Amino acid sequence: MKRQWIYPKHISGTLFKYRSAIGAILLVLLFGAPFITLNGEQLVLLDVLHRKFVFFGLVFWPQDFYLFVLALLVFIIFIVLFTVIFGRVFCGWACPQTIFMEMVFRRIEIWIEGDHNQRKKLDEGPVTLEKVIKKTLKHFLFLAISFLISNTFLAYIIGRKALFDLITDPVDQHIGGFAAICIFTLVFYLVFSRMRELVCTVVCPYGRLQSVLLDNQSIVVAYDYSRGEPRGRLNKAIPGATGDCVDCKLCVQVCPTGIDIRNGTQLECINCTACIDACDMVMQKINKPLRLIGFQSEESIREKKPFRLSKRVYGYSGILLLLLSVLTYLLLARTPVETTILRASGTLYQLNPEDGTVSNLYTAELVNKTNEPVKYEIRPDDPDARIRYIGKQAVIPGGGSLKVTFFVILPQKKIRQYKSGISFSLLSGSRTLDNFKTTFIAPFDL
Ligand code: SF4
Ligand code: SF4
Repeated sequence: MKRQWIYPKHISGTLFKYRSAIGAILLVLLFGAPFITLNGEQLVLLDVLHRKFVFFGLVFWPQDFYLFVLALLVFIIFIVLFTVIFGRVFCGWACPQTIFMEMVFRRIEIWIEGDHNQRKKLDEGPVTLEKVIKKTLKHFLFLAISFLISNTFLAYIIGRKALFDLITDPVDQHIGGFAAICIFTLVFYLVFSRMRELVCTVVCPYGRLQSVLLDNQSIVVAYDYSRGEPRGRLNKAIPGATGDCVDCKLCVQVCPTGIDIRNGTQLECINCTACIDACDMVMQKINKPLRLIGFQSEESIREKKPFRLSKRVYGYSGILLLLLSVLTYLLLARTPVETTILRASGTLYQLNPEDGTVSNLYTAELVNKTNEPVKYEIRPDDPDARIRYIGKQAVIPGGGSLKVTFFVILPQKKIRQYKSGISFSLLSGSRTLDNFKTTFIAPFDL
């Protein structure tokens, strides 16, 4: 089946202005995040190759995998709940695909080729000098922006420093990186110049999920058929002969996915709200109340009731809040250095008759989750216990780990049982980095 190219009409209503403002903020954040430094780290880094992830200055390593899984779970539940309640509003207002398409690429296209009718005419018309110039300029700018997006994308994946090296070093030193930039540029260019709404309507799995997630209580962009029908030209002679919809089809002309929202909720609707702006404009002109198309649920249209938060919304929000609280607690309780302590294999205890002490030998693995080298000291919480290191290294390397072997020595007269608990603090100067515990074994019948 031949694809029908869509030429949406540009509309600049109240919601479009809000959407533009939100889009501008998100674009600044998207382009800025890899270049902002917090706690000495890139604000956001998703370095899959080195398995290092940074969010708002907090570094996460493979040891934090449980946090990653929980965060992913919270995110999925959030998306599901949000969609069940508010439909696909994320797609129209916050998805990078829509923001780039509608706020960047579409605007350039309108600026160069004109509004929907002019664009259609240009595409269907013969090849002229004007057409060649306009198309060349448009695709050149599309490629340039795709190149910029591709570089930003790489800054998230490999880090801004590696990206800077990639850009400034000779190409033959980074053949792989250079190839990645070219491939990503081409992919982004094809997405925004050719695929466009197909990404939302065919490719995006979130879009395909809508049929499962939405129900008649979900708030979506919807046409109030009870008010609009029977649609038809405004009949001033017989007031009330038709509904409020004057069948101008402006809502269809502005739709970036080419659907008619008056046919009901459809998977293709990305909740961009362009049709709300368009219809409001028409309603204003014909002196009818606004929001013939608006954010509403099927149930509120059918029962002609204003939308109110249902018990379901409160229930879902409660679950989400609980998960977020657990995640926040785990994030706050997360230590910069993680310690795993094990008794050295093959040993139980050593008696030292010359000074009346008994000692146990341990090996601890210290994992530094920060990017900086950390000086450390292990201190037993029991003031009677002493530590004697075997070949201690002074620092734990940044983003690395260190194995430390040491004796814990206790006076024999302090021993009260064969196996007792012993706890330690891992210190860096006066700062406690971690607390950990193990058992101490000593003969009791001394
Ligand atoms: S813009 Fe409003 S009035 Fe015009 S066709 Fe769409 S729903 Fe009807
Ligand atoms: S139907 Fe309306 S909200 Fe949905 S995609 Fe089209 S213009 Fe946007």
